Amino acid sequence: MIGRPDAADGVSPERLVALAETLIRCDTQNPPGREASVVADLVGVLEALGCDVDVVEPVPGRPSVLATYRPPEDRAEGTLLINGHIDVVPVVAEAWTRPPFEPARVGTRLYGRGAADMKGGIASAIEGLAACRAVGIEPRAAIVFHLVADEETGGAAGTEALVAAGRVGADACIVPEPTELRVSVAERGTVQVEVHVEGEAGHGSEPGAARSAIADAARMITALHDGAVSDVVHPQVGTPTCNVALVDGGVARNVVAPSCTFVLDRRTAPGESVDTVFAGLRRVIDAACPGAAYTLRQLVVVEPSEIAPDHPFPRFVAELTGSDSFVGLSLGTDGRFLRNRLGIPTVVYGPGSIRQAHTADEWVEVDELVTAARTFARAYAGFSATVAGPRL
Ligand SMILES: [Zn+2]
Repeated sequence: MIGRPDAADGVSPERLVALAETLIRCDTQNPPGREASVVADLVGVLEALGCDVDVVEPVPGRPSVLATYRPPEDRAEGTLLINGHIDVVPVVAEAWTRPPFEPARVGTRLYGRGAADMKGGIASAIEGLAACRAVGIEPRAAIVFHLVADEETGGAAGTEALVAAGRVGADACIVPEPTELRVSVAERGTVQVEVHVEGEAGHGSEPGAARSAIADAARMITALHDGAVSDVVHPQVGTPTCNVALVDGGVARNVVAPSCTFVLDRRTAPGESVDTVFAGLRRVIDAACPGAAYTLRQLVVVEPSEIAPDHPFPRFVAELTGSDSFVGLSLGTDGRFLRNRLGIPTVVYGPGSIRQAHTADEWVEVDELVTAARTFARAYAGFSATVAGPRL
């Protein structure tokens, strides 16, 4: 059959898996943040593909790799950013049945820490450019890779630092975190809150004679934990949740507890703010435990983010995947900085399952790596500032 060459045909599964294995072999556990161990390999691969490569360290010892591929004669019609994190979560070695940093192909799977989250996705995104080059198809736009440190502990030394330093500019972005090859347009955030409950100390032989902070906290916890903490129902991420994660209370075995503190993790949907979360928590607590004395203290906040599914950019990526449906993520990615701080149209799309992320014996299907690389190749061949659509 004679027709237009297809960039996806340039994907080499062998080259792709070899790159994924190379990346997995580098122990980039965060904490403590050992991203430096993977930098030389990435720089080598990206330079060999014709990229200009820059290694930046917003925080000393925490490098991110920034690479740009420009079509010849500076004909670039816009910029497509690929943002992926090179750090991985720590391993609990005893829980693994194989060495986490020695990648292994078993049947249809590739095993190793980061196989799914997200060295596999990074390898697929880079292989997409290698595929274009292999079949002689030049991207229309500049293709920029930000392979960043520190996503797993919040991004302050990675994407957030790059945004703050003015290093991030693009017409659109794809984050190749594991989505099982579906296009994610929304993700939840987190508001972690410490609730401090005050009661009165009393003799342990007369629990009814004093107001126990632990008894009050128990009523609050029962109402809050996995309870109805919000009326929001988001089309992609569903209903917000609340997990009471830590409890600490009382002073002695024979004393009615004068104080109790617990920490909850309230996952937010796009559109919810810290203020609306606090108002909702107070409503639930006051209904469950009238008259209780308590204070709320904000701990960690991770903002939710979204892009409308009918925005042109998600539609462009979905079309490449042969699907017209969209999903949301129950957790946050660095995509939130790009959507919320810079208004860059951003989707999350990548091989592997979030259920594999952070687990022992983490794996990814090799077929999914290949399919993702084919999608990236077509994205690079077809993307221009026009298909990026408007800013958010
Ligand atoms: Zn990840």
